[in-house]
Amino acid sequence: LVSRKRQPENTVIDIKGVKIGNGNINHVFGPCAVESYDQVAQVAESIKGKGLKLLRGGAFKPRTSPYDFQGLGLEGLQILKRIADEYDLVTISEIVTPTDLEKAVEYIDVIQIGARNMQNFELLKAAGQIDKPVLLKRGLSATISEYINAAEYIVSSGNGNVILCERGIRTYEKATRNTLDISAVPILKQETHLPVMVDVTHSTGRRDLLLPTARAALAIGADGIMAEVHPDPAVALSDSAQQMDIPTFDRFYEELTDLENRLK
Ligand code: PEP
Ligand code: MN
Repeated sequence: LVSRKRQPENTVIDIKGVKIGNGNINHVFGPCAVESYDQVAQVAESIKGKGLKLLRGGAFKPRTSPYDFQGLGLEGLQILKRIADEYDLVTISEIVTPTDLEKAVEYIDVIQIGARNMQNFELLKAAGQIDKPVLLKRGLSATISEYINAAEYIVSSGNGNVILCERGIRTYEKATRNTLDISAVPILKQETHLPVMVDVTHSTGRRDLLLPTARAALAIGADGIMAEVHPDPAVALSDSAQQMDIPTFDRFYEELTDLENRLK
């Protein structure tokens, strides 16, 4: 169902009027994790000030160590809902179990399925039964074919509103957190009709590479960028080394839109 052969036209995802795909470019910014109302509100303020609409923030954090901050759970989703209402934004947050999925649809606009759950087939099937767009990240070591099959699980379960997101894959290279597979973007766009975004934060794990990789992603045809922004990354409870502070985000966004305008 996700194959380009089956549907030649690009799918456009409409999130409360915010369109992604088929030439509609929209970016997702926000903190790695929702930590407090004030923390998210500061980022929301900056996003709104740029005329942007999509805000991310993790509430259920899939952390490598059980001793690391696990996210605020439902309370985190409630904070996102409050911010979305107050700032007129649409929100994206990762959900990790089918049970939480049912509760989450009340609070957020887009369900993120993270890299670690790309082949959690029960979660994929459950995401296929909800009436919200799903942003599906590529698995840590997933081939493109496995990734496309994961998207197929969601679409074949009844939900055609899937956004793909390349977020780097595991390789022997240690200079970056993961290796951004930039060629996955045109391949996914050739083989499927779904929009494709690029997460520059989790792929590089390096603040100094966010802008160059985001530019490469737009130049190669991505439908949007995901990057993490935190009011004070040094004290962030997760991904402290790679989130942008707000002045850095301002410069990043200015340069990104500059390229976007030149590409038009
Ligand atoms: C995230 O976007 O918060 C995240 C954990 O990313 P990934 O699943 O790509 O590691
Ligand atoms: Mn993160």
